[in-house]
This record gives sequence, structure tokens and C-alpha cells, in this order.
Amino acid sequence: MPNSRTSSASIGSTTNNDGPLCHCAKPTVLTIAWTDDNPGRRFYNCDDHGFVFWHDKERSCPWQKRSLLEAREKILTQKEEIKALAAALRQANGQITALEVSRCSGSVNETLKSIEAHVTGHITETQKMVRKLVLYYGGGFAMATALLVYYMKK
Ligand SMILES: [Zn+2]
Repeated sequence: MPNSRTSSASIGSTTNNDGPLCHCAKPTVLTIAWTDDNPGRRFYNCDDHGFVFWHDKERSCPWQKRSLLEAREKILTQKEEIKALAAALRQANGQITALEVSRCSGSVNETLKSIEAHVTGHITETQKMVRKLVLYYGGGFAMATALLVYYMKK
């Protein structure tokens, strides 16, 4: 991949965060290669043209290359495992949510029933009390009259 433009392209190197300019005059971006030949080796990448030239001039030695490739495999395996775990977690979360919804609606129904029972009971109690009062005072009219008389005497 490295080409003969390497030396001319590096003339565009500046102190800002962008890499040196590509031959197309676009700033390049420092990128890490994870190819079999150059694991972990940094290069300047152009959005349009890809590889421009190496940042790390020297290639890695065989043992470094081997351990880096092993690390790459490990990372890829772990990525797959994380993906599988995330999927399992999403599924579990979905089941929990479904459970919570059913439990929730169950308790809402129970709450409504108990409120209904309470209200019904209260109404029945009130009706009983009214009936008792009516019996005690011989009707609402008598009670009103009694009250009226009481206040007028005052
Ligand atoms: Zn370019």
C-alpha cells in the first residue's frame, strides 16, 4: 500500500490535529491499521483515497505482529460475545417489562376492585345511617322543624 508519494505528501504536515495533506490536498487522519500484514501500525488516511502513507515508518517485528494479531482476534471474539450478551440482555429486559406490565395491570385491577368495594361499602353504610336517622327523628320534616324551632328560640 505505501507508495512513492510518501515524501511529497508529508510536506503538507502541519501542527494542527489533522494529518498531513493527501495528494488531493485534503487533510488526512491518523488511523490504526489492523490488517494481517500491519496490525497496530498507524497510517494517514484520506477520506477519498484511503491509505496515504505510514506514520509508523518501521514494520512491527514478528513477535509483536503475532501478539497484536492474537489481541485482534481476542477483541473480535469479545465483540461478538458482547453483541450476543447485549442481545440476550435486550430480550431479558423485554421479558421483564412484559412481566412488570402484567403485574402492574393486575395490581391496578385489584386496586380498582378494592376501591369499588370500599365505595360500595361506604354508600351502603351512609344509606343505613340515613335510614337510622330518619327512623330516629321520624322523618326529615320533623328534624327540620325541630332545628328551626331550636334556632328561633335562641
Ligand atoms: Zn485524497
